[in-house]
Amino acid sequence: MPWINKEMCTGCQTCVDECPVGAIFMENGTAVITDDGCIRCAHCHDICPEDAVRHDGERIPEEVKAHMAWVQNLLNHDYYAHDKDKQKQLIERLQRYFTKNIKVLEKTIEQLVFLKNSK
Ligand code: SF4
Ligand code: SF4
Repeated sequence: MPWINKEMCTGCQTCVDECPVGAIFMENGTAVITDDGCIRCAHCHDICPEDAVRHDGERIPEEVKAHMAWVQNLLNHDYYAHDKDKQKQLIERLQRYFTKNIKVLEKTIEQLVFLKNSK
C-alpha cells in the first residue's frame, strides 16, 4: 500500500489529478491515499515530483512499534498487570497469534507466485 510522507509532500495535487480511481485527496495541504479505494497501480509513485509517495516496506519499524504498543497496553491491563504468570501466558498467546499471521502471509505469497506463473 503506497503512503504519502507529509514532510515531503508540497501539495502540488498532481497525484490527486492523475490517480485513475480518485483514491487520493487533499487534507490540510498534503495528499492522502485512501486504503480502500487504491488499486495498487503505482502510478502515484512514478509521477510525484517530490518522491513523497513511499513504499510499504519503509513502514515496517513503525508497524512493529504499533504492535508492541498494543502488546504493552494489554500487559498493563488490570487483568495482567500484577501477575507475571498471566503476563507470560499472554505473551505466548501473542507469539502464536503473530506466528499464525506469518503462516497466512507465507501461504498467500505461495498462491500469488502460483497465480503469476499461471498468467
Ligand atoms: S504528487 Fe507528490 S508532492 Fe504532489 S500532492 Fe501528490 S504526494 Fe504531494
Ligand atoms: S497506487 Fe494507483 S490507485 Fe493507488 S493511490 Fe496511487 S495512483 Fe491511485
